[in-house]
Amino acid sequence: MSNSNRLRIAIQKGGRLSKDCQDLLKQLGVKLNLREQRLIAHSTNMPIDVLRVRDDDIPGLVMDGVCDLGIVGENVLVEVQAERERQGVPSEVNKLSKLDFGYCRLALAWPQELGKQDKSWFEGKRIATTYPEILTQYLKREGINASTVMLTGSVEVAPRAGLADAICDLVSTGATLEANGLMQGDTILESNACLIQNKDLQDTDKLALINKLMPRLRGVRQAKE
Ligand code: ATP
Ligand code: ZN
Repeated sequence: MSNSNRLRIAIQKGGRLSKDCQDLLKQLGVKLNLREQRLIAHSTNMPIDVLRVRDDDIPGLVMDGVCDLGIVGENVLVEVQAERERQGVPSEVNKLSKLDFGYCRLALAWPQELGKQDKSWFEGKRIATTYPEILTQYLKREGINASTVMLTGSVEVAPRAGLADAICDLVSTGATLEANGLMQGDTILESNACLIQNKDLQDTDKLALINKLMPRLRGVRQAKE
């Protein structure tokens, strides 16, 4: 639907990836006029518009061609892809680059007082998560018969609140799990932020601009190593 001849990039508006995304765009030489409440920020030196949205919306915006590029956690990308595949809706994107921020892992956890458990403990249990598709695929792969309950926030309090026996949630340091009396188990997915592109993008000017930005992105990554 994008009738704009400006390259549209979707990034997270407010959250863990926002600052790194803005820093990255700056390092790529994209000057932006970011006013707090604005959905769209126009670049002042390149034909680029930056859309600032919830991270959950980013894969769909890129898959549907509303945005040409997006920066999103692989966890969200994989979840949306699995959901769309199940629904028979287009779910492909070109992954241009893995980025060096937003690292986290999606891991299982259960109340610490239960002590160490193996996979068989999950049989018949209820697991709270924001990632029901990824979790369901994992359970199927492992042959575990457990149910999932979808929570979009405060997943870590679900066992204490009696909503679930265990959780499957994002972890970076493990401090949140510990603070909630949870013990960490298997990692289901490791994730970083990544740069994705609409797979049908054909506009030669936009592709030329992306081709100009990609070596800069590689330069930024190398400079950090
Ligand atoms: P939004 O309002 O945009 O939906 P959100 O609350 O879903 O935000 P954030 O908590 O800001 O999302 O996390 C955004 C992304 O940051 C995650 O999807 C994940 O890729 C990454 N991330 C890195 N470390 C963590 C962590 N410890 N917990 C959660 N997400 C993390
Ligand atoms: Zn989100």
